[in-house]
Parts: sequence; structure tokens; C-alpha cells
Amino acid sequence: MPLVVVLFGPGGAGKGTVAARLVEADPRLWLSRSWTTRARRPEEPEDAYVFVARDAFEAHARAGGFVEWAEFLGNLYGTPVPRPPTGCDVLLEIDVQGAEQVRRQRPDALLVLLAPPSPDVQAARLRGRGDPEEHVSRRLAAGAAELATGRTLADAVVVNDELDRAVTEIAAIIACRRRQGRTAGVAPPRSAPSPGR
Ligand code: ADP
Ligand code: 5GP
Repeated sequence: MPLVVVLFGPGGAGKGTVAARLVEADPRLWLSRSWTTRARRPEEPEDAYVFVARDAFEAHARAGGFVEWAEFLGNLYGTPVPRPPTGCDVLLEIDVQGAEQVRRQRPDALLVLLAPPSPDVQAARLRGRGDPEEHVSRRLAAGAAELATGRTLADAVVVNDELDRAVTEIAAIIACRRRQGRTAGVAPPRSAPSPGR
């Protein structure tokens, strides 16, 4: 069974940037592409998500096509049931609600919380990415609670201050879990979060 690595954290933490670097450096890591009902941002690549209408998303959810899905700031986001190439591990880049759902379904998943160095830096990065001011304040307001919940869920917390350092640290955490998996058969299970958190 492939290892499932979950890179999660608040918007603007740098998940997309870090995930791209991780898969670029590791051919055995396969990045799952999420579905969303959000509109594509002007500078965003077409394959950043599978962009769909709400009807299509809901139909896919009813058909059991998602491992997890969540509503965030009025848009739906979901992780399709992963189909990685043989021999590859799976990397999910999702939010905190999604990480909670994955933890319930896959207690052996490796959950890495990516944290921005500070709310000010997070805001500056969101603005730099071109998020409208209204989104920046909503994401910032959600960010503190997301980090608090995230810390209770995570196997590891990595601060995305310097990009190269953060990527190297996460790659080392993945390598460590892979070694444990090989020697122990399966990674030690964690207790699942209690419902309603
Ligand atoms: P997320 O996927 O968590 O919402 P992104 O990967 O889109 O975040 O990153 C938000 C912005 O911050 C992007 O413009 C990205 O280029 C920038 N960024 C990400 N990591 C760093 C870093 N370590 N240092 C400086 N800028 C960064
Ligand atoms: P954005 O609109 O900035 O691309 O994403 C908003 C939030 O949704 C981010 O925190 C992002 O990580 C999260 N997200 C992206 N894909 C998924 C997914 O498949 N499931 C869940 N639960 N969240 C996702």
C-alpha cells in the first residue's frame, strides 16, 4: 500500500510551492490533483486543479469519487480517490479540514503541517500572489484556528520561512517514514481524532 503524505496548512503557507518542489525532486512521489468549484485565478496554471461546476462536483461526491472533500470560503475542494503509478507514494496538498478526514480514514498517513513564519508574512505572500484584499483578511482570520487544530493533528510541523530549508526538512521526514515502513511493515497507527473537532 502506498504511503499517503498530507501537506496541509492555511492558505498562503506555501503548500503549492513546496509540493511542486517535493515532486520535482522525488520521482517516487505522485501529486494528487484536487477538484474545486472555485474559479481559476488569472495567473494560475490550467492544471492547478480540476476546475468544475458545483453540480459536477456534487455528483462526483455522491458517486464516492472523493477520499475527502470540504467547503472553504464558499467553494468546494475535494481529493479524488488516488490512483498513483505502481511504486509511487501519494502526496496530498489540502487544508486542515481535509487533513482531519484523511487522518480518520488512513491513521497511518504522514501529516505534515506547513506553517507560515508569521501572519504578516502570510498576508504579504497572499497579496504577492494576487489574492484580493477581502480574501487575504478571510484567510488570515481562518489561519489562527487552522494552525491550532493542525498542531493537534500533525506528525510534524514545518515552518516555511526559507523555501529550500523547508523542502529539505519535509523530504527528510518522508525519507524517515519510508525507512520505518520498510523495517516495521506498517507505520505505527495514531489515535484518530474524536468526531466533531
Ligand atoms: P498555498 O498553496 O499554501 O496557499 P502558495 O504555494 O500559493 O501557498 O504560496 C503563496 C505565495 O507565497 C506564492 O506567491 C509563493 O510563491 C510564495 N511563497 C511560498 N513559499 C515561500 C517562501 N518560503 N518564501 C517566499 N515566498 C514563498
Ligand atoms: P486555494 O483556493 O487557495 O487554492 O485553496 C484554498 C484552500 O483549500 C487551501 O487551504 C488548500 O490547501 C485547500 N485545498 C486544496 N485542495 C483541497 C482538497 O482537495 N481538499 C481539501 N479539503 N482542501 C483543499
